Amino acid sequence: MVLGSFTKALADRSLSNSIFWGRSYCLWCKHKLHWYDLFPILSFLFLRGKCHYCHKAIGIEYLLVEVVMGVLIGFLFWQSLQSLQLSVFSFQSLIALFDLFFKIFFICVLVVLFLTDLKKMFIPDRIILPAIKISIIFIIFITIIKVVFLYYTLNQTRLGQLLLPPHSDYFQRHAMITAEPLVWAVVSGLLIAGFFYGLILITKGKGMGGGDVKLGAFMGLGLGFPASLLAVITAFLIGAIYSIILILLGKKRFGQNIAFGPFLVIGSLVALFWGKEILDWYLHLGT
Ligand SMILES: [Zn+2]
Repeated sequence: MVLGSFTKALADRSLSNSIFWGRSYCLWCKHKLHWYDLFPILSFLFLRGKCHYCHKAIGIEYLLVEVVMGVLIGFLFWQSLQSLQLSVFSFQSLIALFDLFFKIFFICVLVVLFLTDLKKMFIPDRIILPAIKISIIFIIFITIIKVVFLYYTLNQTRLGQLLLPPHSDYFQRHAMITAEPLVWAVVSGLLIAGFFYGLILITKGKGMGGGDVKLGAFMGLGLGFPASLLAVITAFLIGAIYSIILILLGKKRFGQNIAFGPFLVIGSLVALFWGKEILDWYLHLGT
């Protein structure tokens, strides 16, 4: 929930083009908020959705973002508990912990972009570009520690030493296998970004914007293969259903622009939480 008010603040500050650091303040009267004004959900309820200082309405979206973010991160922890055995410290649990941190980061970025794209059809470079860089650094970092750990464990025993060069190519082969997710993540990011870029060229910028291209790259890096592909397909499906409903209700005409970012975010979250289950189900449909 704290991350919820944090992501909401980042989204607001991206849209108003103000600095990211500094204390939270009321958007109306600019009064700095105290810690007791910043309690997720509770402050909102106690203040009855109004600013403590100028009594202007804060907006229900603050409450919604905090609740949704609490649910998302809570669900992530619940799901990750199986792989996290904090009682036994092992290399695997350390990797699982890093993975958990990255997923929290991934969700935060997605929620910020969801909010900005929904509100102003805008995916801020100030958020997405550092997010892409951090993702690349993270996956390279994870790959390096896995390879170093492999070398270290092999080097511990006499038998293991025989598997290291120059005796055997076992280490090289396994290092390559360890690096595969990194390669797939980069390839997925490039492919999705390239695909979106192609769509922009074909539709002459009516369907998507440059922000979607960068978001596509981020999805590929964060989800890897095949989860990122699943995320894109899910986004197109949800987007199509949503557009059809709007057209049927007479709220939109065919070909009218709607922001695609929110669908990409929902698709990414679906792939992040249930990607494995959905792919298993799909691959066993024929059998
Ligand atoms: Zn105020």
